[in-house]
Amino acid sequence: QRRDSFNRDGLLSGILKGDLQSLSSGITLLESNRKEDKVEAQKLINSCLKHSGKSIRVGVTGVPGVGKSTFIESFGQVVVDKGFKIAVLAIDPSSEKSGGSILGDKTRMNQLSVNENAFIRPSAAGKSLGGVARKTRESIILCEAAGYDFILIETVGVGQSETMVNSMVDFFMLLMLAGAGDELQGIKRGIMEMADALVITKADGDNLIKARRAKKEYENAMHLFPANENEWIPKALVASAYENYNIEKTFDTIDSFVNQTKVNGSFLHNRKQQDKYWLHETIADTLMSNFYSAERLVKVIAEVEQDVIEGRISSFEGAEKLMKIYNHE
Ligand code: GDP
Repeated sequence: QRRDSFNRDGLLSGILKGDLQSLSSGITLLESNRKEDKVEAQKLINSCLKHSGKSIRVGVTGVPGVGKSTFIESFGQVVVDKGFKIAVLAIDPSSEKSGGSILGDKTRMNQLSVNENAFIRPSAAGKSLGGVARKTRESIILCEAAGYDFILIETVGVGQSETMVNSMVDFFMLLMLAGAGDELQGIKRGIMEMADALVITKADGDNLIKARRAKKEYENAMHLFPANENEWIPKALVASAYENYNIEKTFDTIDSFVNQTKVNGSFLHNRKQQDKYWLHETIADTLMSNFYSAERLVKVIAEVEQDVIEGRISSFEGAEKLMKIYNHE
C-alpha cells in the first residue's frame, strides 16, 4: 500500500486522527537536526502533504506588548466556539541572537491552550531565519493533516520575519497600538502595505477614542497604497481582547477575504506563487549552507576574506575564486 506508507511509531496515523501528542511529536521530529530524524521527518511530511492545504493560514504580527497573545487567546476562542479547530505556531526571530525569547517565556494563552480544539506550539528553533521558515512551513502541513481549520502564525514585528510569514499565509494581520506612532512601533510602511487587515488593539476604556482616531488615520493612509492584485481592500479595525470587542468582526473579515479571493481565484493563485517562492528560497538556502559547510572551503574562505579586507583582491575576484573551488573547476 503506497498511501500513507510512513508510520513511525504510529505517528502518522496519530496525526491523521488529530491526536495532539502525535502532532507534537511530529513537529519535534521535524525540528530535529539529527540526520536520521531528518530522513524520517521528510517521509512524515510527504505522507501528510496529501492531507494538507485545507486550512486558512493567518499571519499575526506586531511589536512586543501590542497584545498579540491576548488577542490570539480571544480570537482562538471565537474560532473554537464556531466549531473549528485552531493551531497557533509562533516564530521568534529574537531567540537566535539573544538566546532569550520574546515569545516563549511568558505564560501565554492559558485558556486556549487547554481547549481540546486548540493546539499551541511555541517558537520553532533554528539557526537561521531560513531554517525557521522551513520548519514552520512543514509544521503547517502537519497541522493541516491533523485537521486544523485555522492556522495562526505569530511573529514579533522586528523586521525580516514579517516578510517571511507573509509569504506562507493567506491572510496577513498587523496589530498596532493607538497613538504610539508608527516609528515608535518600528513599523515600516512596507509591512503596513503587506497587511490585509490592521487591527488597533486595546480599544477599551480611555483608549477607545484614540483607537478610533487611529483607525481613521490608517484608513486614509491605506487609500494611498497601491491596489492589491487580489482586489482585496485592506481593512482597519479597532478591537479589545479584554472586552471581546470586534474579535468576531476580525474573524468575519478573514471570512470575507477568503470568500472573495476564492471566488476570484487569487486564493489559489497566491498559494501557488508561494510554493514557487519557497522552491527557490529552499534552493538558495541549501546552496548557501552547502557552500559554507564544504570541507574544502572552510579554510580558504577565511584566507580570501583576509585578501579582500587587505585589498589584495576585489570581492568579485574573491567570490569567483571560492566558487571555482566549490565547483571543483
Ligand atoms: P504581546 O507581547 O504582543 O503578546 O502582548 P500581550 O498579549 O502579552 O499583552 C501586552 C500587555 O497588554 C499585557 O499587559 C496585556 O494585559 C495588555 N493587553 C492585551 N490586550 C489588551 C486589551 O484588549 N486591552 C487592554 N487594555 N490591555 C490589553
